[in-house]
Amino acid sequence: MNYDGYFARALAQLQDEGNYRVFADLERHRGNFPQATSHCGQTRDVTIWCSNDYLGMGQHPDVLSAMHEALDKVGAGAGGTRNISGTTHHHVLLEAELADLHNKEAALLFTSGYVSNWAALGTLAARIPDCLVLSDALNHASMIEGIRHSKAERQIWRHNDLAHLEELLAAQPLERAKLIAFESVYSMDGDIAPIAEICDLAEKYNAMTYLDEVHAVGLYGPRGGGIAEREGLMDRVTVIEGTLGKAYGVMGGYIAASVDLCDFVRSFASGFIFTTALPPAVAAGAAASIRHLKASAAERASQKEKVAEVRARLDAIGIPHIDNPSHIIPVMVGDPVKCKYLSDILMRDYGIYIQPINYPTVPKGTERLRITPSPVHSDADIDCLVGALETLWTQCQLARLPMAAQ
Ligand code: PMP
Repeated sequence: MNYDGYFARALAQLQDEGNYRVFADLERHRGNFPQATSHCGQTRDVTIWCSNDYLGMGQHPDVLSAMHEALDKVGAGAGGTRNISGTTHHHVLLEAELADLHNKEAALLFTSGYVSNWAALGTLAARIPDCLVLSDALNHASMIEGIRHSKAERQIWRHNDLAHLEELLAAQPLERAKLIAFESVYSMDGDIAPIAEICDLAEKYNAMTYLDEVHAVGLYGPRGGGIAEREGLMDRVTVIEGTLGKAYGVMGGYIAASVDLCDFVRSFASGFIFTTALPPAVAAGAAASIRHLKASAAERASQKEKVAEVRARLDAIGIPHIDNPSHIIPVMVGDPVKCKYLSDILMRDYGIYIQPINYPTVPKGTERLRITPSPVHSDADIDCLVGALETLWTQCQLARLPMAAQ
């Protein structure tokens, strides 16, 4: 039996819709974020403007030397699942570092943020008797898949809509197990959840909270503990979930919570139990990154300045972008084919790499270029980006905000 014809037709349809994903083939430059060599078509140097290595920590000397040191000392792989010889001292130290970051009793590592959501949320929802999961409408695929997999009852509340969440909570018996799943910074719009108010509702209606801080850890709060740290709310959230692959620049995911909750997930989550542990050098690099960003606020401050600068420059020329309180600048194009075209021309003519974000990642009609300024983008990088967008916006006859006419 051969399904290649079926696969080809499905892919052709994606291409027709402008939604077929083409990967950039990049070679990042060691110690020199955000520069890379692109091997797409002609080989050339590019500046990356869409990385989730938000602070450039993936090229930071502390991280690189911790990884080298661990590699030289203990070798490449962990050698097994966490249960069968794969728990190395680097994993244990990293979990302690993460528990401390979020002021929780314990933390549990996974091989990615995706796996941490899928496995932890899925296990809690499946195994807490008669658990109802209340899931924000814009939650990440990893949470949605975890909840689905659990087969627990799920109700979806309108994005960041407290009244709707309260309506759903109020309809349930107080004694029923309820888990509110949501994010702090939403990755595609860059808006931020009202965490304090959600915690108020959780306390009023006897619910637990599961907060994905993947786009916030390392970036917000005095020690990089995320939005919950910045707002003094870490103790009120039942589970904080994060990644080591974005602001921390390495790889891996985790939850931080009570000792009993982490031990429960450790003991029952197949996505934790039956997979090889992260390489120890990865754990060592992540721990070095966390330690650095606990002590240093310089990267966070500088990133904030760069984000403000890029926003102001886009405003000055009327390029539409979502006005949000985070580090994510979604430049709105509103058409998948134009979005892809802009991305291609930025790469080809300007050496600027911004991946187009199309459906199904975002709703149809809201296609965008998602720009993430980092502390190490230079003034010249910003000049080049803004100049290129201005030229292409005119060339593609894309709408500008009224400000441009002033
Ligand atoms: N949660 C959210 C909100 C995400 O955006 C992502 C990845 N983009 C993940 C979880 C998964 O994290 P990771 O990349 O570490 O698998």
